[in-house]
Amino acid sequence: MKPERPYDPMSIANAVELGLTGVPLYCRKCYREGQIGFAALAMPADTPVPSIARARRFVCSSCGNRAAGIR
Ligand SMILES: [Zn+2]
Repeated sequence: MKPERPYDPMSIANAVELGLTGVPLYCRKCYREGQIGFAALAMPADTPVPSIARARRFVCSSCGNRAAGIR
């Protein structure tokens, strides 16, 4: 068992273990909420979840705003 490292962000693998299927997203412009599945991301399982939003640009399907980010 690894020691607790509280500053380690949750990885995709951790999120899947917790039963999550994707990254919750929201639009900063129209506040529409959505989710993108981890499978659709096609990113390594050890990718920290907070870095997904920095690595990818999500476009809101409702208003086209490119500032959609992780909630
Ligand atoms: Zn929007």
